[in-house]
Amino acid sequence: MEITKEIIEKIHEKLNEVSPVDYDCGKLCNEICCVYEDEDYPNDDLIIYLLPGEELMYDASESFEVIHYDIKEIDYPNSWKDGVYTVKCLNPPNCEREIRPIQCRTFPLIPHIDKNNHFYLIFDESQYPYKCPLIKDNVELNNDFIVETYKTWRFLLKNRLIYDLVDSDSRKRENKKIKYKKVK
Ligand code: SF4
Ligand code: SF4
Repeated sequence: MEITKEIIEKIHEKLNEVSPVDYDCGKLCNEICCVYEDEDYPNDDLIIYLLPGEELMYDASESFEVIHYDIKEIDYPNSWKDGVYTVKCLNPPNCEREIRPIQCRTFPLIPHIDKNNHFYLIFDESQYPYKCPLIKDNVELNNDFIVETYKTWRFLLKNRLIYDLVDSDSRKRENKKIKYKKVK
């Protein structure tokens, strides 16, 4: 399944209707997932990897710079032979929220495929260099956010490249025996 701009816009519409909690969780952590930096991870490096087709949303944006990486520069599945688009957030935590990437909208939930090819959503703290209070404090997320995020990722997995990426990340997680928590 090819991901078109119309599909991305529909996904944005659906995800606009939900949010992880009913308050601004950025107040819990001073928006750490937008602005975190340390010696090994300068904020200048804050880039978000785009899914195939998402790059079409960023023709002219003052909040995001689109950067393309060749497959040789990046540890991605071979099927991504045309490389990977990313966006750099230019003025975090401020951005054009209406076009922020899907990976940002569905955070802190992460798609995972187990060895029996079952798909579910997880929390995986090892994925980021900072602590998200929603995960650390085991905050109950809104059910409609979990359901919409689940439906979105299950749909996106029909795209071969996205499937390969989620599968590859999942295999790495399981091979390294990383502890994660199943959410749905
Ligand atoms: S998702 Fe987590 S890390 Fe990001 S703003 Fe909300 S509480 Fe903070
Ligand atoms: S896209 Fe916006 S909300 Fe997401 S990390 Fe970047 S600045 Fe923060």
